[in-house]
Amino acid sequence: MTEHKSKVLILGSGPAGLTAAIYAARANLSPILISGIQPGGQLTQTTDVDNFPGFPGGIQGPELMTNMQKHAEEVGTSFMYDHISEVDLSERPFTLKSDNGDIFKTETLIISTGAQARWLGLKSEQEFMGFGVSGCATCDGFFYKDKPVIVVGGGNTAVEEAIYLAGICSKVYLVHRRDELRAEKALQDILFKNEKIEVIWNHVVEEIIGGGQPKAVTGIRLKSTFNEDIITIDVDGVFIAIGHDPATSLFKGQLEIDSEGYIITKPGRTITSVPGVFAAGDVADSHYQQAITAAGSGCKAALDADVCLRENPLNKG
Ligand code: NAP
Repeated sequence: MTEHKSKVLILGSGPAGLTAAIYAARANLSPILISGIQPGGQLTQTTDVDNFPGFPGGIQGPELMTNMQKHAEEVGTSFMYDHISEVDLSERPFTLKSDNGDIFKTETLIISTGAQARWLGLKSEQEFMGFGVSGCATCDGFFYKDKPVIVVGGGNTAVEEAIYLAGICSKVYLVHRRDELRAEKALQDILFKNEKIEVIWNHVVEEIIGGGQPKAVTGIRLKSTFNEDIITIDVDGVFIAIGHDPATSLFKGQLEIDSEGYIITKPGRTITSVPGVFAAGDVADSHYQQAITAAGSGCKAALDADVCLRENPLNKG
């Protein structure tokens, strides 16, 4: 067991955490950043990022995150591949314990743990997870080359995944529970022009069908949202893209959290209900959830932590 002491401890290595690290390191605060289970966060599971300023023509998500990490380390961030399992925010310095058994004592904490993919909650979804059911088209799309697949959802993620899969698969169905998509117009235009993609409106997934040895998905049963009508479609892959849940379970009961699980911050700031604890990125933002907004709030969190350390020093000497 090793004990680490820091002025600023950052949880999460997506755009929010890494930007907070760059700003905190450049303010001479020697931050420690704990990567979490998925180093680099959600952007490591995407392909082209076309809307991050400074990259005309786009950049690959994993490359963007590798660059951000390099930048954070270059200016003085200590990067640790670990995951926090226990948190005590009752007094400063705050105490956190990691899966490796290390103890972290920190004067300020920046939470940028992001959000995780949401699932439908069906038994058959669980049964075929990794055997035809996936939450990431860019990770698993290749397995369905020249095969029919279905994407579930109506947001930007679902539409992007459908477009991406159309470049690999023989046919892509997109099933949505309403009669209009939530995704932005520019993406919808691309989707509707793609002849390989068929949108199935006003239906929800009733069951994922499959079997065999090794296990494999063979189809999907969809139910109308208007009546009891059922349709069955032959597909080899099912991609679930129905949004995200913020990673806040560690902080429940210790920080103010809203009904959807997002950390509540002072409007326009990253200040949480516990002085010295700041939240940045998707974990505190159910609305924008963009790489650039996450990065922007990471910057704010580091600036807020810096002010807190100067105004409320633990060692006044
Ligand atoms: P989202 O915008 O919350 O969309 C989730 C979709 O899944 C909605 O269409 C929702 O339907 C549907 N849904 C939710 N629960 C469902 C259920 N149990 N059964 C069936 N359908 C269900 O999530 P997202 O697409 O992952 O996007 C998250 C955020 O990231 C958004 O702010 C998005 O703009 C952003 N994003 C941006 C980009 C980009 O800019 N290139 C790419 C990806 C994501 P309803 O519409 O009926 O609620």
